[in-house]
Amino acid sequence: LSFSSCDLPEKLENNLETAGYVIPTPIQMQAIPAALDNRNLLVSADTGSGKTASFLVPVISRCSGIRLRCVTELRNPLAMVLAPTRELCIQVEKEAKILGKGLPFKTALVVGGDPLAGQVYRIQNGVELIVGTPGRLIDLLTKHDIELNEVSVLVLDEVDCIMQRGFRDQVMQIVQALSQPQVLMFSATVSREVERMASSIAKHIICISA
Ligand code: AMP
Repeated sequence: LSFSSCDLPEKLENNLETAGYVIPTPIQMQAIPAALDNRNLLVSADTGSGKTASFLVPVISRCSGIRLRCVTELRNPLAMVLAPTRELCIQVEKEAKILGKGLPFKTALVVGGDPLAGQVYRIQNGVELIVGTPGRLIDLLTKHDIELNEVSVLVLDEVDCIMQRGFRDQVMQIVQALSQPQVLMFSATVSREVERMASSIAKHIICISA
């Protein structure tokens, strides 16, 4: 499999090439076609495996495609990535900007440390992707007027981490606020417990490991 056999938007293909992504990593070879095929995934992938692009490529492809076909000016978020830390969110958003360059694909970070008002303002002005931590996203959901029912892909990065401790209820609250999106979950370790958590979030999950 190559990126060019995935029927991706031409600009996305060019951005991959510019970033030096010529050959998909083993995880990308499995996860990208399955995600483009609308499947719910539980992917066993470590940092360094190319996991970020394995969810960003299908997310960017889907979102920019929807936007290009859309005639209205309204731009409610179409995808959301949840990750356990601010640093990880910043990294994901950075890669999303690189791969989504030149496409109708705006991003918003929703993490602690910066004023929430600015993040809300950005979203209300129209973005395709929200990248955030569960706690901050709950603040956003409960106190602000943000339309999330067009979110059709939800990514849970480091799902083993974000389903632990105090995060778990927050994640479930966010999942329930969405209209049954496709769910792409990534975890360094996939234990029985992680599989159980994953099936409480999405149905008909395909498990992938490289
Ligand atoms: P990640 O596992 O997402 O943290 O990615 C690890 C590193 O691999 C990052 O620096 C990416 O920019 C890079 N990377 C991801 N996919 C590819 C690819 N197909 N070819 C070359 N580098 C890649």
